[in-house]
Amino acid sequence: MGGVVTRADELRDNLVAVRQRIADACRAADRDPAEITIVAVTKTWPAADVRLLAALGISDVGENRDQEARPKHDACADLPLRWHFVGQLQRNKCKSVATYADIVHSVDRPSLVTALSHAAVAANRTVTALVQVQLDEPHDAQRGGATVADVLAVADSVAAAGGLRLGGVMAVAPLGTDPDAAFARLSAVAADVVAAHPAATIVSAGMSGDMEAALRHGATHVRVGTALLGRRPPVFS
Ligand SMILES: *Cc1c(COP(=O)(O)O)cnc(C)c1O
Repeated sequence: MGGVVTRADELRDNLVAVRQRIADACRAADRDPAEITIVAVTKTWPAADVRLLAALGISDVGENRDQEARPKHDACADLPLRWHFVGQLQRNKCKSVATYADIVHSVDRPSLVTALSHAAVAANRTVTALVQVQLDEPHDAQRGGATVADVLAVADSVAAAGGLRLGGVMAVAPLGTDPDAAFARLSAVAADVVAAHPAATIVSAGMSGDMEAALRHGATHVRVGTALLGRRPPVFS
């Protein structure tokens, strides 16, 4: 056969490599790779790529902007995918996001719980919500996430809200620090949440650059963009 490398070939090779990284990290941590969900973060990439990933066995897709996610979801509505909203969420976007997102990773304050709950009830859907934990020290109000001290209260309010199911926790490692230290702290927070809400077992942590560290500390969902799809155009980063 000729030497033309198609986008499908590229995505398949990247997925094989990501699965291998997960398998290696799980073996080192004495974990079962079958327990790990890859959320393919397709932001900036076209719906055609989502379609190719689905054909390769990807079941979970992540997006971070409503304006981009909604049309992409609609273009792929025939595919058996779970849609994850992983970006910072504003209250005025909840009405839209609740119509297509199965899991929202970025719930970090009571006002957002209320807005997402109303939107899910209005859409007659149950949306799984993860409490985003901010691991930056000191706390950076520009970056998403509840402080560690506030996480349980946000989790309690999700658990009590109509239309929402508390799934667990999510975090992004702080920039320029040791991800192992950050994910170890997330693991402690996750244990506190599970102690209060036994079904809330999801730990969404780890991206292309730090998934091994996250898997060492109990990640159940890794959110992988660049390692699967390639480098994003800088304008969106
Ligand atoms: C873009 C994004 C990712 C994926 O990042 P990569 O480094 O490209 O793997 C993961 N999580 C969130 C919240 C993102 O916005």
